[in-house]
Amino acid sequence: MSAETRFESTRWARLAVALVNTAPGERHGDFLTTPTQLRDLLVAFGEPEPVTVRDADLVDARAARSDLARVFAVAGDEQQIVERLNELLARTARPRLVGHGELPLHLHVDAPGSTWGGWLVASGAMGLSIMVAEHGVDVLAECAASRCVHAVLRYGPGPARRYCDASCANRSRVAAHRAARATSTAGNGGQKDGPRSAPSAPTAGPGVT
Ligand SMILES: [Zn+2]
Repeated sequence: MSAETRFESTRWARLAVALVNTAPGERHGDFLTTPTQLRDLLVAFGEPEPVTVRDADLVDARAARSDLARVFAVAGDEQQIVERLNELLARTARPRLVGHGELPLHLHVDAPGSTWGGWLVASGAMGLSIMVAEHGVDVLAECAASRCVHAVLRYGPGPARRYCDASCANRSRVAAHRAARATSTAGNGGQKDGPRSAPSAPTAGPGVT
């Protein structure tokens, strides 16, 4: 990842979504229970090494996850999204230009001396706020699949993204396909006239939508 993209707000927003989606739910358990899991998440989203994570970072990162999840919990409600993001920005963000090491001048959003958790909530709130300012509040959404409450960022070219990943997109398409078949079978008086072999499950295209 280049220095030009390393500190961009889109990365902060995507990392905020990934952090929120580590929370336990029907689809999986808690993916943020050890400092190593937090470290892996930070590195996966382009944090330059060395990334050192301590127990206190984990505690604060879990608090950051709860704070950011509260924003997605009111997805679709412009007033509440604005209130919650502004509250997070006021409480956590201290934007300033910083130059250190061999990196060019870049923006830090967290308060000086923050833990990784403090960095995550401040950068996440700023990244999501910039997303909302650029794309509107509907950019923040919850996955459209049943039994999934993952956060989703709806932006980019093509139709607005509805699902958190290919698994949810495929599951929903299969369910819709089966529902359509059941409806057409019922309309035929129960006569099956489709292909004798079971239909193959539709698969997601190159872009998960
Ligand atoms: Zn999902």
